Amino acid sequence: MKIVAGNFKSNLTRSASMEYLTALDSMLNTEMCRNKDIYIFPSNTSLVQNNYKHITLGAQNCNDSDSGAFTGEASLLHLQEFEINTILIGHSERRNIFFENDNICARKFEYFKSHNFKIFYCIGESLGIREGGKYLEFLESQLSFIDTNYKNLIIAYEPIWAIGTGLNASVEQICECISHLRGISNAPIIYGGSVNENNSNDILRISDGILVGSASLDINKFYKIISD
Ligand code: PEP
Repeated sequence: MKIVAGNFKSNLTRSASMEYLTALDSMLNTEMCRNKDIYIFPSNTSLVQNNYKHITLGAQNCNDSDSGAFTGEASLLHLQEFEINTILIGHSERRNIFFENDNICARKFEYFKSHNFKIFYCIGESLGIREGGKYLEFLESQLSFIDTNYKNLIIAYEPIWAIGTGLNASVEQICECISHLRGISNAPIIYGGSVNENNSNDILRISDGILVGSASLDINKFYKIISD
């Protein structure tokens, strides 16, 4: 089974997301999804009931609380209202723009683990760390904060220098990191970073799946990635 996940980030309004999800769900069929698990992470204001036939909805971010005084944040109750039990934690944009460090990511991980969520836990090195040569140690250190034996864990290896830049890592670079991570965890390991309809097949061959940002915003490109 390969995982194909789309991260809409802060794109697409609620109505545009709903239109997209309805259309994609009807374009897919059981045969196409026989060996693919499809996930979409829309913006939190676009979350809807998680009852599509071929697509599982997840949250891009959520506070580690049932509810409470956390202005601007969604909490568990907001996800439960839509029966959402999948979450992205540690995306590099959360880490870099919103200052979520390993401790905050680990706290969120523990909280959503305690609620049995499927957790896509993102890790990845910056260009500086890659060029410094200690990127495998860095990835290992990011994972040292969480329980890598958690049964509902999916590790998303997303080198920061490849996210939203059009520069995707080479098959060799991805293979090296994935095989190192396989020595640490039995969780599925997916890759993200400028995946598109032209490189998705090569990357799917060497990984357990892909996390797609920009290319997932175009339904035809995302459909091609799934159906190829
Ligand atoms: C992402 O947001 O996780 C991502 C990989 O983005 P992009 O595909 O645009 O690089």
